[in-house]
Amino acid sequence: MAILVVGSVAFDSIETPHGKVDHVLGGAATHFSLAASFFTDVRVIGVVGEDFTPADEAVMTRRGVNTLGIEHAAGLSFHWTGEYSGSLNEAKTLGTDLNVFATFEPKIPSAYQDSEYLFLANIDPVLQARVRKQMPGVKMVCGDTMNYWIADHGANLAVVLRELDVLLINDGEARMLSGEQNPVKAAHAVMAMGPKALVVKHGEYGATAFFSDRAFAGVESVTVPFRAPALPMSEVVDPTGAGDSFAGGFYGYIASQPKLTPTVFRTAMFYGGVMGSFAVEKFGTERLQALTREEIEERFRLFREMSHLEASVA
Ligand code: AMP
Repeated sequence: MAILVVGSVAFDSIETPHGKVDHVLGGAATHFSLAASFFTDVRVIGVVGEDFTPADEAVMTRRGVNTLGIEHAAGLSFHWTGEYSGSLNEAKTLGTDLNVFATFEPKIPSAYQDSEYLFLANIDPVLQARVRKQMPGVKMVCGDTMNYWIADHGANLAVVLRELDVLLINDGEARMLSGEQNPVKAAHAVMAMGPKALVVKHGEYGATAFFSDRAFAGVESVTVPFRAPALPMSEVVDPTGAGDSFAGGFYGYIASQPKLTPTVFRTAMFYGGVMGSFAVEKFGTERLQALTREEIEERFRLFREMSHLEASVA
């Protein structure tokens, strides 16, 4: 099973209470691909500039990620500058330089056409919609977005939301998109815009899945929300990419299973949390690059133990 992902492939300049890095490899599609690559085949659509080196590409190909769909264009790669001060749950964007993404025309290589799972990672919703249109036969479509696109690209985003089985966003984005402060009202207002289910990430506090009454990818409607934990951590070095890594673990696990069931969905939420917890341990993609499947399974067991309540407790 393969996931096709479109999204930013970028260089990030980041400041956190733990330090500062300049132009490290990042981007929503990059973090997502690395995380999902531990579970399934991943194929990337994106564009990079002349500053993107073979060593950058090797970060993905070493993990088996297919980069045939990453176009190399004249100019500079997407560059995001952000900082975290006080709350590590939400980044403050200091600069977004779209660069080569501003004129990108996504083309799907023929070798990608049989991808069964589509992930519309964070990028201009116009590009997300174009890729969706070129992949009409996929089994499932999940997506992400952020305040930058919600604020000024609402009409284009509305087109993408109508196409989604599952949208994954954080608390702030859910409030901003819906205009509702209450998390349950916000979730239902967002699902009324299109997504059949919504995964809201709460940073260090885990994630909650909400379901509409519409079935998706073979899953009949589920009415009770599901809350997955996050690992309490004594040190968060850099939260950048945690959301994309969550999405990569979540969707990678789903794609690795023969059938999507409510249990597979819930397990996927746990794997999402596991991958997010690793991503924040080092700057940029460093931790995911060094990660092993054994470490993932070990932490998955910890997540289960942490949130398990025996039925026989009086
Ligand atoms: P997150 O997982 O939410 O922390 O996403 C982090 C990644 O999003 C960074 O590596 C950035 O390069 C990327 N990013 C930041 N702003 C945007 C944007 N407006 N569109 C697409 N990607 C972005």
